[in-house]
Amino acid sequence: MNLQNEPTGAGPPEFRFIADEHLGRLAKYLRLCGFDTIFADSLTDRRIIEISLHEHRIILSRDKELMSNKKVKGGFRILSESPVRQLSEVINNYGLREHFKPFSRCTKCNGLLENVQEDEIAGQLPQRTRDFFSDFRRCSSCGKIYWEGSHYDRMKKFISSL
Ligand SMILES: [Zn+2]
Repeated sequence: MNLQNEPTGAGPPEFRFIADEHLGRLAKYLRLCGFDTIFADSLTDRRIIEISLHEHRIILSRDKELMSNKKVKGGFRILSESPVRQLSEVINNYGLREHFKPFSRCTKCNGLLENVQEDEIAGQLPQRTRDFFSDFRRCSSCGKIYWEGSHYDRMKKFISSL
């Protein structure tokens, strides 16, 4: 019997998170690095635990009480108050560096980004942007448009600064 926790096709392990309501910036940063992260804004502890169990998400929180709840199966207690250092804590703890997929997930809503042809979004962007850039992606969930250039450069700079 194969006890290894790898689905057929043997893709890389997937890390999914749910960040509590005090960790909004951390949630954004994780999405920026490509990790599926729910921001549990205004959810009760009970609901957070339910979602975590149901969707196999690691709970991220600074809250001792939540993290010591016996029902919590996968949780990581964040120590730092600085979002950038919080991100480093998570990255180092789970060895996430090799799983980065920048420019793949919407920082606003956690939706997946898809490639999009320039003419499909022509009406939604200023001509100047379209003159300078040619590689566009769109959030499949909220429709926000990203392009290589300002967004992408900022992400790359941020990620390499970690
Ligand atoms: Zn989105």
